[in-house]
Amino acid sequence: MNAIALVDGNNFYASCEQSINPSLKNKPLVILSNNDGCIIARSAEARTLKIRMGEPYFKIKKRLNKLGVIVLSSNYSLYGDMSKRLMNILKKHCEKIEIYSIDEAFISIHRPHNKDLFPWARKLRTLIYQNLGLTITIGIAENKLRAKLANKLAKRINYSAGIFDLGIANNKNSYLKEINVENIWGIGNQTSQWLRSKGIKNARELKDMNQHELKKKLGVVGQRIQLELKGYQCLPIEEKKNQKKEIRVSRSFSQPITKLDDLKHALAIYTIRASEKMRAQNLKASVVTIFARTSHYSNFNYQKSAYKKLIEATNNTNIILKIVIELSKEIYHPDYKLAKAGVLMQDLSDYNYIQKSIINYPSDDKSERENKLMQTIDSLNNKFRNEVITWGIAKKKQSWSMNRKLLSGTSITNIEKIPTIII
Ligand SMILES: [Mg+2]
Repeated sequence: MNAIALVDGNNFYASCEQSINPSLKNKPLVILSNNDGCIIARSAEARTLKIRMGEPYFKIKKRLNKLGVIVLSSNYSLYGDMSKRLMNILKKHCEKIEIYSIDEAFISIHRPHNKDLFPWARKLRTLIYQNLGLTITIGIAENKLRAKLANKLAKRINYSAGIFDLGIANNKNSYLKEINVENIWGIGNQTSQWLRSKGIKNARELKDMNQHELKKKLGVVGQRIQLELKGYQCLPIEEKKNQKKEIRVSRSFSQPITKLDDLKHALAIYTIRASEKMRAQNLKASVVTIFARTSHYSNFNYQKSAYKKLIEATNNTNIILKIVIELSKEIYHPDYKLAKAGVLMQDLSDYNYIQKSIINYPSDDKSERENKLMQTIDSLNNKFRNEVITWGIAKKKQSWSMNRKLLSGTSITNIEKIPTIII
């Protein structure tokens, strides 16, 4: 019989920073959101100081200073790279894997005759720590929902050492009782309020609740949650996520944009990124949409989008850039201070099944050459990172890019910032 494990990186963003910069180890550390807005991650040490998630930085700057908390801008290329390394190690030690988020994965693993998965879990934890300097928590159970609960229990129970197996635990019901309904995977705010009004407070009570009443209110979704709580497997491990419907790259500017040239520049950078993402997933877009808007806090509200349907689907940066730059004139307005803009690649289809247009048929030779060029650019950028090759427009000086004043100096995705060891 197979067991399901949920592996989760502890304080992931903060741990990534601590892993590449040992001087941050055992210190209170917080990471800020884009534009250094609010706190989105805390090291274990910062948690004990009762610094809350989501707190706006400007409000607690003084307090953080007083407490000696280290503050860093978010560095997503580092977290993304560490995540890839983490998932690659996990892949080698399981039968099936579903990457659920940047630091979480569901794993299907064969349960041995003696039912004991602790040696496997302990080995995996050690391996991840030795290779990446990251600590993980492993929750094991009969299915995905119970594995999520087991993971929560592993974090809560002091003697668990980061591993909890609900599948073989004695007295499972008493553990389920410890999980409040709000903390069950798939139970949202409204649902938990309704459950509380019915006197259902924890996972144990939800498991034993009248199934007809639950189904009447929450339909199949509620029924599935209850069955998984009972130990049945309803939710499969999804190795390949359903294909994306659109690829979106959008950002808020550190300072509002008022010039058309700046808007074009920002949209060009987002287009380069979005096209690269499409190529990485073998997708092509048939519709390209762009938008820009003023700040939600502005008194003068302005929002506009424009799109173009393509005769032939593409993921070629050259073609899409031309379209986006042309479209940007349609959404620009000189009277408004633009706070955010973005590009959306839509109507995506699989690379291999694309019908070629008969009207605008580029010679196979030319499109073949263009494809090779894009592949070469992508592989060079993958190899050396940090956009060694990009389009001229992306290299212009920016005054509007995101605030990341507190970015840590070290990196594993930028060759110039790799830590140096002097012997
Ligand atoms: Mg986590």
